Formats: sequence, C-alpha cells, structure tokens
Amino acid sequence: MTRAWNFSAGPAMLPTAVMERIAEELPDTNGSGMSAMEMSHRGTAFQAIAQATEADLRDLLDVPDDYRVLFLQGGATALFATLPLNLANGSGRADYIHSGHWSGKAIAEARRYCRVNVAGDCEPRGFSRVPEAGEYRMDPAADYVHITPNETIHGLRFPELPETGGRPLVADYSSAILSEPLDVRDYGLIYAGAQKNIGPAGLCLVIVRDDLLTGAREDTPSLMDLRAQAQAGSMLNTPPTFAWYVAGLVFQWLKEQGGLAVMAERNRVKAGLLYQAIDDSDFYRNPVAAECRSLMNVPFFLADPQLEGRFKQEAAEAGLLNLGGHRAIGGLRASIYNAMPLEGVKALVGFMNDFERRYG
Ligand code: PMP
Repeated sequence: MTRAWNFSAGPAMLPTAVMERIAEELPDTNGSGMSAMEMSHRGTAFQAIAQATEADLRDLLDVPDDYRVLFLQGGATALFATLPLNLANGSGRADYIHSGHWSGKAIAEARRYCRVNVAGDCEPRGFSRVPEAGEYRMDPAADYVHITPNETIHGLRFPELPETGGRPLVADYSSAILSEPLDVRDYGLIYAGAQKNIGPAGLCLVIVRDDLLTGAREDTPSLMDLRAQAQAGSMLNTPPTFAWYVAGLVFQWLKEQGGLAVMAERNRVKAGLLYQAIDDSDFYRNPVAAECRSLMNVPFFLADPQLEGRFKQEAAEAGLLNLGGHRAIGGLRASIYNAMPLEGVKALVGFMNDFERRYG
C-alpha cells in the first residue's frame, strides 16, 4: 500500500491504521455478517456502533452530562442556517465575529434568518490577527455569540475566547476539533463538519447544552430542528451511517494515541516545524500574527508568486499532495490535521528547503 502525504484541507487524510481497519472489517463488521454501510440504522448492530461512538467522543472531550451530542447531515454549512433558526429566538439578534472566509459565510447565511451584529472584524487587518479583548463591540441583547475558533483558509486561530457576558458562545470548530483539549463548558454549542479531524464527509457533529434546546422557529425544516434531532437520537431520518461508523474508529484511534493532550503536543511540534521553516526564509511568508497562527492549517506565500504552479507540481511529483491555497486567497497551504504524521511534515519541510535552494 502506498499512502501519499496528503495536505488537503478537507476531505483530509485519515489515519492509516483506521484505513486498514476499515478494509479489514468492511464485509463483516463486529461479527454481524454485514458492513456498517449495510446495517439498518435502527438495528442492534448499528445502535451499538452509534452508542460506542458517542461514548468515546464524550470521553475524549470530557463532555458534561447536560450536553447532547448530535450526528447530523448537511455539513457545517447546514448549521449556518440551523443556528439562527434554533437559537435566535429571544431578541432575534446575534453577534458574529468576522475572522475569515468561513465566518463570513456563516454571517451571510445567518442574515437570512436574524439580525447580525458583527461584533469584531478582522478583515481590515487582512485576517492576520483576531480582535483584542477591548476591541469587541457586542450587542448585549444578542441571543448568542458566534466564532470560528480556527479559520481554515486564513490559518487564523483564537488564542483566547471573547468574553460574552454570559450569553452562549457558539463555535464552528470544523477545522480544529479534537486537535487539542477544550472545555466544552465554555460553549453553548460546538459544531464541526467531519471531513477534517473526524471522518468522511457527510456528517456534522454538534455538541449542545440542554437548556438551549428550547425549540426552533416554526417554519424550520424538521431535520434542522435541534431539539427534535436530540429527542430522536439524531435519527429523524436515515443518518450517514458509514461516516458515523468511521468517526467511531477515529475516536478509538485517538484514545489509543493517548487522547487530546497527546495530540495537542504532536500538533504543536508539527506546526512549529513548518512555521519555523517559513520564518527562517525570505522565500516563504506567512502573514498571521504569531499568537494567532493555526496549528491545523498553515497558509504560505512565495516571494515570487509565479513559482507557485511549479511548487505544487514538483511537490506532487515528490508525493506531497494538495498544497494549493484556497481559491479565495491563492498562495499555498498545508493542512496538518491529527492524521498527518510528523514524518509527513518533515518531508514537506525538506522539500521546501530544497525548492528554495533551487529557485531562491
Ligand atoms: N466552516 C469551516 C471552518 C470550514 O473549514 C468548512 C469547510 N472547509 C466549512 C465551515 C464548510 O463545511 P461543509 O463543506 O462541511 O459545509
């Protein structure tokens, strides 16, 4: 088996050990005589998988008992609408921090269903750092405050959470969930598309505090009603069973690695190596303030943008795939989620040094 070093931002590489396990038990999962993708979602074989998956996630993130865990469909983008439909039911207003491309998308969608106050905007500084504590302009009557703790495209992370004055903090954790420990109690709701650190696309994980499940607006599509989904165990209709099963294998793998503190340490080492290589050279550049740099997505630019095509082509020939930046900002980007081993980052840094020697 040949596995490339895949730096895709998502769908992203999954641990090779998980791939091997899927291959091994594909025709007969857990002695059931069926693949997980063939099981009835309401049958005992799949129910056991669903429950173990949730239990392992609760273990990993130390999810308190008064939070529900949901496995939904429609990706993180579906949540952009689901959030205001379910949570903007008091004043009908919500605070959003605009920290990059994805929070911009969340804001645009929320504006269709509620009044959005942009309580902090990183755009004037080119998304190179998050607001400082005194810079937020919150609406004290807003029903919730939304942040994107890790902006996948700009490679920008929040080193500290904004003060919300007791209002629920809602976080799009798509590209950083499970990369380090977090305190679920800091949030009213956490959501994350699966295709980076969780499993295959098709699943969106939601962790929501019970008291926020007061019921959605009346015209909310039933599948987007979080209270109804919680009551139905995320099975109002057929859930993406295979993706759910693979997520369970990834959670088991994370536990075997030693949990999120171990992953965080590995992720710091990996990202540190890459940022060091960028900062040590005049050939590569990353514009994000040091304390706000993402551990998961490392965008970088060449002093001579004409060389980008050649960089991507030669990298691919060396087995280093998907290093193109997002079409919204161009440049290059290495996504180094949990499944990317240190060895892969070392291979990339070696290639970057060599490329600079040849073209710098
Ligand atoms: N939010 C963030 C932070 C993302 O990185 C992405 C996808 N890259 C999305 C939302 C959209 O996710 P999906 O395609 O699952 O809807």
